[in-house]
Amino acid sequence: MIISRPQSGKVRTRRNFVMSFLVMLFLGAPWVVLPSGTPLVRLDIPHRMFHLFGGLFIPQEGLILWFFLLTMGLSLFFFTSVIGRVWCGWGCPQTIYTDLFDRIGRAILDSKYGKKDAPALKKYLVYTIWMIISFIASFHWIGYFVSPYTMAADFANLTFLSKTYPLFIGFFTIAMFVDIGFIREQFCKYACPYARFQTILMDEHSWNVTYDYKRGEPRRDGKSKIGDCISCNMCVVVCPTGIDIRDGLQVGCVACGKCVDACTSIMAKENKKTLIGYFSLDQIETKTKVKWVRPRTVIYAILLTIVVSAATYKLITRVPMSMIAAGNKSMPPILLPDNKVRAFVALRIQNIAPMPATYVLEAYDTRHHKQMLIRSGEGEQLTLNSGEIRSFSVVLETQGLSESELKEKYIPGMIRLKNVNDPDSKIEKVLSLTLPGN
Ligand code: SF4
Ligand code: SF4
Repeated sequence: MIISRPQSGKVRTRRNFVMSFLVMLFLGAPWVVLPSGTPLVRLDIPHRMFHLFGGLFIPQEGLILWFFLLTMGLSLFFFTSVIGRVWCGWGCPQTIYTDLFDRIGRAILDSKYGKKDAPALKKYLVYTIWMIISFIASFHWIGYFVSPYTMAADFANLTFLSKTYPLFIGFFTIAMFVDIGFIREQFCKYACPYARFQTILMDEHSWNVTYDYKRGEPRRDGKSKIGDCISCNMCVVVCPTGIDIRDGLQVGCVACGKCVDACTSIMAKENKKTLIGYFSLDQIETKTKVKWVRPRTVIYAILLTIVVSAATYKLITRVPMSMIAAGNKSMPPILLPDNKVRAFVALRIQNIAPMPATYVLEAYDTRHHKQMLIRSGEGEQLTLNSGEIRSFSVVLETQGLSESELKEKYIPGMIRLKNVNDPDSKIEKVLSLTLPGN
């Protein structure tokens, strides 16, 4: 376990601001309820619904999920190729919470933090606070799946014992305590998949935490000094993953910038600019500006623009209702004496708008364009609350069919669900009603 020395500086101040903002966002978002009464963000697994910024999404909308994942993946590709591993150092919970745990450890144990001879009582106080923070973070993490208001009430009334979510909170609390408290940088170095493939996403033009070996080398060795690096080793002792950035870009570097602040303060005493900073390798080699526009970044940017545009179009044109229609297997179609066919269709309708909606159903024989709906289990109109699902049956009846039509296997039909207050908001499903005897 590496306990690095704290380091102040410009990067540290900016990271403090970004990290505080992200922690507040993470803790605050599950509690936000919109004026419509829906949560700002929640993945409601039991009801198979995802609430996001007032929108309600269901698993049947796989294309939107696909666009979302593609946007995430391409953003990762694009930003890594442009600004390196900024996510690791500035946004990753592993880095943010390790930082927080370190602050608490140092505040209580001071120079004994991470040492074997640290006073036992203070050490256990640190562990207790780490555990409390792990619990708070895990509670809020589960708050993205279960209402935090419900959970808080359950904990206050001691009714949580009969629920399932406390098991998850307990699991994540222990996992976080062990991971952030004791596994720490080992996770970044040996387990994080992103750390492994970031090297193929970056090139010599990517903007990253880099050591200026042109100025720094040959570093001071004993009394001989030719380059600017004075071999003070400060960049190594402040590194939370214990690497030496002077050896070049490594999987272990989380781009936290602590070595940038360390070298900046050391070099300031020598009246020189920092040897470690946010540079590209090419910039160090050629002393030119960072080349932001290059084939790799352009291709990622184009792909990202296409996917984001397609996702935006899909969201704008999205109809906030869902309908599944299938022939009722327990009630096969029947042939009536006047050659009419009566069929029974099972429907499952869901309102995925953030407010209640009233619908009307229509069904047509698409060959003759005749209305087929004669009875609906829900009457002529049905009103559903946001997210509500209604399953019921409808009875359809064709007009009298000719002898040749009766010899066919199917009657082509269509069923339409329309929002009464917004006629443009409708979905249609093709029906193939099997004729009796087929
Ligand atoms: S090398 Fe520098 S930027 Fe990379 S992890 Fe260590 S301190 Fe952070
Ligand atoms: S902090 Fe700067 S001067 Fe000191 S060893 Fe690192 S690169 Fe060299």
